[in-house]
Amino acid sequence: MMTTPVIGVLALQGDVREHLIALAAADAVARPVRRPEELAEIDALVIPGGESTTISKLAVLFGLMEPLRERLRAGMPVYGTCAGLIMLADKILDPRSGQETFGGIDMIVRRNAFGRQNESFEAAVAIKGVEGDPVEGVFIRAPWVESVGAEVEVLAEHDGHIVAVRQGNALATSFHPELTGDHRVHALFVDMVRDNA
Ligand code: GLN
Repeated sequence: MMTTPVIGVLALQGDVREHLIALAAADAVARPVRRPEELAEIDALVIPGGESTTISKLAVLFGLMEPLRERLRAGMPVYGTCAGLIMLADKILDPRSGQETFGGIDMIVRRNAFGRQNESFEAAVAIKGVEGDPVEGVFIRAPWVESVGAEVEVLAEHDGHIVAVRQGNALATSFHPELTGDHRVHALFVDMVRDNA
């Protein structure tokens, strides 16, 4: 049984620091990951929000695309927020040319799905597995999940659209819990990591 899990935050681009803080608050050891050697030393990984096209390009450039896919196939727990959710999708509905994902969740996602009028907003989101009040979801040019395969559990919806999912050891949300100071979603992920050990 692991005592304190070591959780990496993919630090190619995006809001890395906020995830490091949220993970530490949820009783994990958190560290940035940029190189394949660093990937080998962690128990689990968070993929932050940012810009999925940029994360995709940098992952190839830093030699992380294949090693990361390999670890995901081997069952390493992973949590993706916003652009991170897109990176975990097996398929993007509207990819930019050359845009790739790590994959791992049998779902089709739509980028920037909530549209121009609604580029950024906050909404209360009830998440299966998170006790108490709904979480304050911060949506920033957020994707939604168009459809999921049979192995995927839908954990939350907003306005009739899927915004949180889990498949095995992979968790993903369209929104950013790391920006609110409420660490319950990170705590849920840390529990998943402990259960996996
Ligand atoms: N729209 C971004 C993308 O497509 C995601 C935005 C975010 O992560 N806040 O990658």
